Amino acid sequence: NNDSIIWTLSEPYGALEWWPCKQNLNDKIDSIDVIVTTPLVNKVGSQGLLVSETTVGPNKIFHWKHRYPIAAYLISVSITNYAAYTNVAPLSAGNLPILNYVFPEDSASMASQSPAIIPIIQMYDTLFGAYPFMNEKYGHAQFGWGGGMEHQTMSSMVNFSFSLMAHELAHQWFGDKVTCGSWEEIWLNEGFATYLTGLSHKNLAPTWWYAWREGTINDVISQPDGSVFCTDTTDVGRIFNGRLSYSKGAYLLRMLEWKIGEQNFFQGVRNYLNDASCSYSYATTDNLKVHLESISGLNLTEFFNDWYYGEGHPSYQVAATQVGNNVSFTINQTQSHPSVSFYEMPLPIYVKGQGLDTTFVFDHQFSGQVFNATVPFTIDSVFFDPELWILSENPTTTLAINEEIAIIGNVSVYPNPFLTSFNLQISKNKQLKSIHIFNALGQSIEPLIIEKTPQLFQINTQQLARGSYTIEIRLNDELIRKKLTKI
Ligand SMILES: [Zn+2]
Repeated sequence: NNDSIIWTLSEPYGALEWWPCKQNLNDKIDSIDVIVTTPLVNKVGSQGLLVSETTVGPNKIFHWKHRYPIAAYLISVSITNYAAYTNVAPLSAGNLPILNYVFPEDSASMASQSPAIIPIIQMYDTLFGAYPFMNEKYGHAQFGWGGGMEHQTMSSMVNFSFSLMAHELAHQWFGDKVTCGSWEEIWLNEGFATYLTGLSHKNLAPTWWYAWREGTINDVISQPDGSVFCTDTTDVGRIFNGRLSYSKGAYLLRMLEWKIGEQNFFQGVRNYLNDASCSYSYATTDNLKVHLESISGLNLTEFFNDWYYGEGHPSYQVAATQVGNNVSFTINQTQSHPSVSFYEMPLPIYVKGQGLDTTFVFDHQFSGQVFNATVPFTIDSVFFDPELWILSENPTTTLAINEEIAIIGNVSVYPNPFLTSFNLQISKNKQLKSIHIFNALGQSIEPLIIEKTPQLFQINTQQLARGSYTIEIRLNDELIRKKLTKI
């Protein structure tokens, strides 16, 4: 509509183009004053508090004062004939004004949408510690670029959608208070802002929570390669790659929450935000890793090698076989990219049937691993990761029930037919002396036998080809032979 507007957008390398600065990621400016002269019709949005608005002839001079450390790329001005209004968020440390500068023609619709930020900022304030710029304000300035930008205490916004408000606000903790220490590690800003948008859905708009998880996974798995770690910081498109720095970064955090537990995750993240070397300064992925390791007692090096530096993602195939109350789960994993040989992960498997259900968590350490469990009902459905904790592509499950149980005297062998293992159970008053397996040609095969109890043995047969076998079981006073089939 021909109204004049000026706005700035500096991330990652643009600050130097409009004001003299040290444009690096290792030395924050300790405070700033932004002073702008503009025609009377306009307002100027910027960082911190507006200390004066002085009329001089046909112009106004706006003076903004910010007294927190700030990275060069987080400084902004937004200038046009804004309409201004304030929302107030009651937070742990008091009431925080949320100042909105919006285009006058949009002010009615913007004013109806912006209050949705109040429960979001209350949630972040609880989960991640007090709003970082509590002595000043938070705010939004509408601008003409098709997205948002987390300018410190005054985000620039194309609109006031729930997701965009949640994302830019999250950056005030992750990006502004604690800033990525290199553009390789931009995920420390964008992965967190994206995951916190997911958490806003989870806690405040749960109808959209499943769709958020599904959509984020589908975005990542739409291509087989790419790491969260940014491999080319000369390419601004790679730095802000939505699939890798945002979606995969967010899922890396979700999987950390799953792996180390919700309480440890949030406490570890708070410790990272409050770490004296990171807080109001710059951080590395290693800073975050150290805090999550220290709170959980886990070594996360392999996890970060696979999910942060490694490219691609896993797929899973789960085969469940139930015989009576005994269920064996064989879990296979393939990888979409050769940079990761295997993703070691705790995997949730949910089973239900006869109106009952239960969830198992199996610590998956190699493809083809077999997990045995007891289920006191007949399973009718098996689900891999129904809560979408794991970034994986099209996981599949199969279920086989009530295979023949071969009971010969003092021995039960099940399941038969079998997939990659079978169980051998012997009567309490007997001792197992030896097990031999012969193929159809009568050749003896050396099986891997795991003694679960003195009466229960698991025989792993991954190396066997499909076909029919004879098992010869020698007890202290008995020799038993039985035909079995591998399928
Ligand atoms: Zn962002």
